[in-house]
Amino acid sequence: MALKDKVNTTVALLRQARKKHGDRLVYPCALGSEGVVQIDLIQKYAPGIRVLTLDTGRLPQETYELMERLREHYGMELEVVFPDREEVEAMVNEHGVNLFYRSVEFRKMCCAVRKIHPLRRALQGMEAWITGRRRDQSADRAAIQPVEDDPVFGLVKYNPMLDWTEDDIWAYIREHDVPYNRLHDKHYVSIGCACCTRAITVGEDPRAGRWWWENEDTVAECGLHVTRLTRGEGEGGEGI
Ligand code: SF4
Repeated sequence: MALKDKVNTTVALLRQARKKHGDRLVYPCALGSEGVVQIDLIQKYAPGIRVLTLDTGRLPQETYELMERLREHYGMELEVVFPDREEVEAMVNEHGVNLFYRSVEFRKMCCAVRKIHPLRRALQGMEAWITGRRRDQSADRAAIQPVEDDPVFGLVKYNPMLDWTEDDIWAYIREHDVPYNRLHDKHYVSIGCACCTRAITVGEDPRAGRWWWENEDTVAECGLHVTRLTRGEGEGGEGI
């Protein structure tokens, strides 16, 4: 499918979601490369969709700079959602500020406190949410459908970017001068918290830059999009 057709398909699904769910639709955006493309499409062709992002408190400076550039470039509202202060304090005071390096369980705890719980709060009262997931990102994501039921959060989930490839994303960013995270220019592919993200080298899997200290058997998948789990169990992983 040509890129122009993918753009049309994405825009059509965004508009369909907006028409069906109105202000009970939200796009929680991690501000990755596909995220900024989808923000561009929303601002130009499907305005009115609420866009939010999570500030875990551990983000790279480059991500904060991107938030500011997006606001300026589009004149858009970018809602920033924070973790619960008491929950973060209790976790850090009991287990240390860098607990995630010590075990997978502690990493999942940190992701739950800093990402999953605030996202769940932000999704309260919503009917549907939009993701930037793509079929080419992993074997687990190869079967993504445009519209799915999300058993973790009990919402309808829209995946308007599902057919885009990495090359499509960057062709669109260059052609339309979309603001993007400067860390991508330093070989960062999947960008999350500063302490849990590194650049990758040639030939490495894109997700090798996340939680690289963990055993290879540990799946570096986003806990927010684990569909086989029931509500409350999908805590852990990358976050949005
Ligand atoms: S990515 Fe790292 S710092 Fe960020 S919430 Fe998860 S474990 Fe915590």
